[in-house]
Amino acid sequence: MTIPAEGRVTKRRPGAVKGGLAVADSRPIFAHDRIHGLRCTACRNPSAQRDLPWCPVCRGPLVEDTFSPSGSMWSSTVVAIPVGNRKPPFALGYIDLDDGPRVLAHLLVPESVPIDTRVTVTGLEHGDLVAEVDS
Ligand SMILES: [Zn+2]
Repeated sequence: MTIPAEGRVTKRRPGAVKGGLAVADSRPIFAHDRIHGLRCTACRNPSAQRDLPWCPVCRGPLVEDTFSPSGSMWSSTVVAIPVGNRKPPFALGYIDLDDGPRVLAHLLVPESVPIDTRVTVTGLEHGDLVAEVDS
């Protein structure tokens, strides 16, 4: 598996641009319609992070894996204050991917979404996952 061009190796938080230290970006990578992460070879635990030294559940070895962008809403909320370039209101939610980990994504609708609603991650916006409610 190859690391996508917009992958972790080149992603850096704005701190480096503003004179701060460059730090690894822990946000998930979305490329080729898949979410890229890691999976434990011992207990099969999936993770959307790609810079873990070992499995956080069993300390087993990890291999790169990709996950389906489809899942169900675990929880969501509406943010009412500006954050970075985002103007309120905007919605965030945790999605339990069908074959992978729980990931945080911005929602295309500016409102919270009921638990278990089917959603699909559709891309990245400013490095953050973006998801829409399935029709
Ligand atoms: Zn494990």
